Amino acid sequence: MNDITKKERRCIYLVELRNVSVSYDNGVEALTHFSFKINDGELCFVTGKSGSGKSTFSKLITGELKAAEGSVYVNGYDMGNLKSKALADARRSMGMVFQDFRLIPSMTIDENLEFAMRCINAPVSSIKPRIEEVLELVSMKGMGGRLPTELSGGEQQRAAIARAIVNKPSLIIADEPTGNLDPTLAIDIMRLFLRINEMGTTALIITHAKELVDMFPQRVITIKKGKLVDDSFGKYKGSMQMPPQAPQKKGRHR
Ligand code: ADP
Repeated sequence: MNDITKKERRCIYLVELRNVSVSYDNGVEALTHFSFKINDGELCFVTGKSGSGKSTFSKLITGELKAAEGSVYVNGYDMGNLKSKALADARRSMGMVFQDFRLIPSMTIDENLEFAMRCINAPVSSIKPRIEEVLELVSMKGMGGRLPTELSGGEQQRAAIARAIVNKPSLIIADEPTGNLDPTLAIDIMRLFLRINEMGTTALIITHAKELVDMFPQRVITIKKGKLVDDSFGKYKGSMQMPPQAPQKKGRHR
């Protein structure tokens, strides 16, 4: 942890970008004077067309990129000013989910999850029960012995989500998590993120699939040409599969 005390950390947003600008070496300005905040326990969809700056936004939060101008704070860490140990600590407070799942192909799902827990030196006795708990949460009970290649795309993404939450992160950040899935599976995966958020984990879900986002009554920000052009409660249009239920915060499960 950096020099921010626990008490001070509670006073700040879980993620805050303050007037951030990012340019790539080729001169493209990917984000321009971008400001954003999310509270602990919130869920927010991040949407925008391809090339609008969504991945750049995500990489700033995970510390893969540093802002040329402005500040990025995540869970109390100033992401632009971290040495490698603090950066590793900051990343441990995040769980990441990607479009292409990124499970280790030579390991079973149990082994993928165990590997993630061993990376943070989790107590050995906690590993098996926690793996069972998260596999049940993502509706994959009894499937931990399978290799990723023995699972469907939707199951692989559920397993990747299980890995993202197995270490009880404060924030889950998903970059196009439904990009490789058909529409019905995509809805299921979004519902799973809503469930995880209801259990107390802050969630940022990045997707260009506006029609999918419109199915859920949630906060949505829209990025256009590197600028935040809309931050609202979304344009919920409903769905046969997803009745409008306001999420009930029940406190943290972590
Ligand atoms: P999105 O995720 O919304 O598709 P990106 O954040 O990937 O958008 O990209 C924003 C802009 O930055 C685009 O114009 C893209 O071409 C450019 N860009 C992204 N990554 C790089 C890079 N590594 N080098 C140069 N330009 C990049």
